[in-house]
Amino acid sequence: MITHKRTGTAAGRHSRLRRAACAGTVGVVITRIRGYVLPSGEYVDLYADGDRWTTDPVPGAALVGEGWLVPGLVDAHTHPGVAEPGQPMDPELLREQLHQHVDAGVTLIRSPGLPGEPPPWFGEDPDVPRARHAGPWLAQHGQFFDGWGRRASHDELPALAGAQAARTGWAKIIADWRVGDSAVPVDVLRAVVREVHAAGGRVAVHSQHPEGGAAAVAAGVDSLEHGMCLDPDLLARMAAQGTALTPTLSVITGGLRRREQEPDSPARTWYLSGARVHGALTAAAAEAGVRVLAGTDSLPHGGIVAEIRALVAAGVRPHEALAAASWHAREYLGLGGLEPGAPADAVVYDRDPRADPGQLADPAAVVLRGRCVRRRG
Ligand SMILES: [Zn+2]
Repeated sequence: MITHKRTGTAAGRHSRLRRAACAGTVGVVITRIRGYVLPSGEYVDLYADGDRWTTDPVPGAALVGEGWLVPGLVDAHTHPGVAEPGQPMDPELLREQLHQHVDAGVTLIRSPGLPGEPPPWFGEDPDVPRARHAGPWLAQHGQFFDGWGRRASHDELPALAGAQAARTGWAKIIADWRVGDSAVPVDVLRAVVREVHAAGGRVAVHSQHPEGGAAAVAAGVDSLEHGMCLDPDLLARMAAQGTALTPTLSVITGGLRRREQEPDSPARTWYLSGARVHGALTAAAAEAGVRVLAGTDSLPHGGIVAEIRALVAAGVRPHEALAAASWHAREYLGLGGLEPGAPADAVVYDRDPRADPGQLADPAAVVLRGRCVRRRG
């Protein structure tokens, strides 16, 4: 699911946030932040010693932010590097879109599917978010966007997924696509899970239809992407077996108005039936103890704040919605929060962003790999 959504907020952030080393100093600056840290709410004073937080004072550290401290934000579902679905990866556009993520406070992304082999600097350069990715999408013949991903028969899919996960740690399977398409059968998904887990990786599955979602849950995949039209009765099982849900709520509900204008068709009926209850499904997932991850899946990039707001509007508690876009997602992807020894990412807000959601669009500072990469001017 990729759609084009114009939030109109990226330009505003650009005007407020200064893309520079902190405290007006060019070059390496030792970063210090202090304030109330989430999720605990304790008051802390942290120093970045290289790319690690420490509570031991580091001489010469510059205080770059004070207030409410959130571990860096995470967009757990984004496909940067193109302007349109189906296009090949454009490295220049990739960097620009990754900067849009950082402008929004994102210091870690997961790309469950990429339009091509990422350049070596992806997830590594000091000015772009850390990254996890699944390489190209893996889909059935005749499904998914033309020009993107790899197609495989059911027999080929498990080995292909295992090999992909061995390379990057993730494999992404498109379990279903259009109305009337057949979903990947559960026994094939089970074999995929076996191969990928044997390779030490994890499986993310795209589903927007009941059969695909049911097969993914029955197969015990690691994360269900979108999960539109999922039977809510499966949420308890997802929670019990640790299958995460990335609902991509803002982009799915953002497509409702356009779909409502369309003439009646099976595709319209399907979309409206799933999208209209997707917020309620997401809130029920959080309530059931499913690990919910915030992911945007949309253009322009850097829309994570809209996704957090969509989660809250759907009934997810603000603390949990922020967790889905920060500490819960970081933990799920193997990174710690604001604690000694953890990688040195943070977003600093003047006030508690859970109580004052307007704060989310107006971070005072963004720290990435121990360097302050954005600061409100
Ligand atoms: Zn996607």
